[in-house]
Amino acid sequence: MEEKVMGAFTAIVLAVVIIMSCLLIYVPNMHIIALKIQDNKLAGGRTSVMEMLRASEEELEGDDEQTRESVLKGHQIRLTLPQNVTSKAVSIDNSQVDRTIKITINGIGKDYFTNYPMRGNGDNIVDITYDSSDLVGVIELALDDVKEVKMTSEGEYIYLDFLEPHDVYDYVVVVDAGHGGNVPGASKLGVDEKDLDLQIVLELKKLFDASNKNIGVYYTRTDDSNPSFEARVGLANDSDADLFLSVHNNSTASGRMSNISGTEVMYKGGDSTGESKKFAEMCLNHLLEELGSKSKGTVVGDEVYIIRTSKSPVALAEIGFMTNANELEKLQDKEYQQSTAKALYDAVLEYLNL
Ligand SMILES: [Zn+2]
Repeated sequence: MEEKVMGAFTAIVLAVVIIMSCLLIYVPNMHIIALKIQDNKLAGGRTSVMEMLRASEEELEGDDEQTRESVLKGHQIRLTLPQNVTSKAVSIDNSQVDRTIKITINGIGKDYFTNYPMRGNGDNIVDITYDSSDLVGVIELALDDVKEVKMTSEGEYIYLDFLEPHDVYDYVVVVDAGHGGNVPGASKLGVDEKDLDLQIVLELKKLFDASNKNIGVYYTRTDDSNPSFEARVGLANDSDADLFLSVHNNSTASGRMSNISGTEVMYKGGDSTGESKKFAEMCLNHLLEELGSKSKGTVVGDEVYIIRTSKSPVALAEIGFMTNANELEKLQDKEYQQSTAKALYDAVLEYLNL
């Protein structure tokens, strides 16, 4: 009996929800009412915040151009700050490889969105989560593309723009340190390849960070993480990178220690423009000059997923052989790593004519 009553109740609630939904299409202001009804749900979580943005998006579509313009001023997202919170309390962390933008705001609690709804359009936003603890609120936006984010503030409002990397930088370069996490790559005499690859990339990062050139450099990793191959090459493809450089170290096919040594750079044979090969040759020449290592030449590396699927001119540099005791010793040396980074940096500049 109780189940029947519950069934009827559910049917009525459903009918009301359907009627309300139909009304919402025609009466934009109803969205605000709808948001109020959901107030208790807007405290946080994934679905409620995303729903709020969708409601706002529909509402904005219903507005005339001028109203829409005055709300968003041509920006993508508008957040409202409580009275006691200024834009100084807002920090943004954009991780391009994960396609997530983390907005941290000091001074907002769990019920933030209840009082200060987000307005804007979710064109590139696929998911939003919100959480707050000790009055530090973190809004995390998941995007479907690689974007730069620009924040501006005016009064109580914070505006966020999602920009194409090339709208911000003259050139975009993606740098990939091989392997990572529980995938060490080659492992010789207690040395993991993933660590050597990362150490070289971090030296390269120092050079780009200190550079006065307007190059946007995205790193697939700057710690011991292991992004998927899709995420690595996707970072280059979706940012329309001018170059994609991957840093690895070699070992013999058998994996046994031997006297084979030298530097080799792979390129995409399937690249009919020849740009991949051209970049690989520049990398090789600078590495040989800087390191004095033996040349193993440039080789087609289309069997490697990130090379085959890269739309950007790609080079995968195998700096040295970890299976050669002498070269393994050098590869661990900080100065040798810095020289490697310098060579790769110079190769990038040469390719970009900078
Ligand atoms: Zn490797």
